[in-house]
Amino acid sequence: MRGGKKVNVLALIGCPVAHSKSPRMFNTAFQDTQLPYVYLAHHVEPHQLERAVNGLKTLGYEGFNVTIPYKEAMMNLVDELDESAQVIGAINTVVHREGKWIGYNTDGAGYLRSLRESIAIDLNHCKVVMIGAGGAARAVGYALCTHGIQHLTIVNRTVKKANELANQLASRGQTNFLALADAEEVIAQADLIINTTSVGMHPHTKQSPIPIDWIGAHHIVSDLVYNPLHTALLQGAEKKGAKIHTGDGMLLYQAAIAWELWTSRPAPIPVMKKALEQANSYT
Ligand code: NAP
Repeated sequence: MRGGKKVNVLALIGCPVAHSKSPRMFNTAFQDTQLPYVYLAHHVEPHQLERAVNGLKTLGYEGFNVTIPYKEAMMNLVDELDESAQVIGAINTVVHREGKWIGYNTDGAGYLRSLRESIAIDLNHCKVVMIGAGGAARAVGYALCTHGIQHLTIVNRTVKKANELANQLASRGQTNFLALADAEEVIAQADLIINTTSVGMHPHTKQSPIPIDWIGAHHIVSDLVYNPLHTALLQGAEKKGAKIHTGDGMLLYQAAIAWELWTSRPAPIPVMKKALEQANSYT
């Protein structure tokens, strides 16, 4: 209780969670908006996951975020799945509503909102090449296909995984797949190139998922990696005159969408953004 009023409790569960910027970002935003919520972080060991989730439910939490390594396992621990979680096959946000625990995945929608905020883009006429076919690619691919892009080509080091993802998304949009090594021509013809692989992430910051020579001034180049923000891919793209889109926006907007699901109010984006930037400067 805070001043006699009920305080709603939210949390992040994962293993590890100590590095997470989510508690700082959410709590700063709840203080700013004076909404009666508090956001905690719980480190949960793998063998304790089910007990921990039951504990949150018993203690009357309003919802929680789920991070590595439990996004897939969480699918079996909720009462209902939103379409986003169902298609992506992973949950990052759980909402307690009318006695039911509902699993969502806000990563894809968060990515799309971030892209649109950052760059004027007409997705309906957009040919997209997405590099990578892992968890983040499933979320971004789902969001792109449900928002009517013209065409999505998935390229991946392991071509079998690109094939599987392209097939999975084919009912929602026009998709095909290629091996990364064969992608030069299709990339030349694309409007938007998205890196969803971990290539370029700290400590391998000099690596790029594709040769910079494949990029031209007509491209928009987007990178999900946020450590560092200006990856070798984005630095190279900028030098080629391409527009760039960094990975911090997805981090912010997937959280903003979770906020909106929990509180049914618009998220205070500038406050959350500033808190995230300040948290980054502490690491
Ligand atoms: P994941 O499921 O493990 O998938 C990794 C992907 O990277 C696979 O497609 C893998 O290809 C590819 N890959 C890894 N090393 C490679 C290499 N040396 N050369 C070529 N391809 C390589 O990981 P994830 O969860 O999708 O995350 C991927 C990245 O997205 C991470 O950097 C993560 O931090 C970032 N991310 C950012 C946000 C955000 O909010 N900005 C959100 C989620 C994820 P194979 O299939 O061939 O192994």
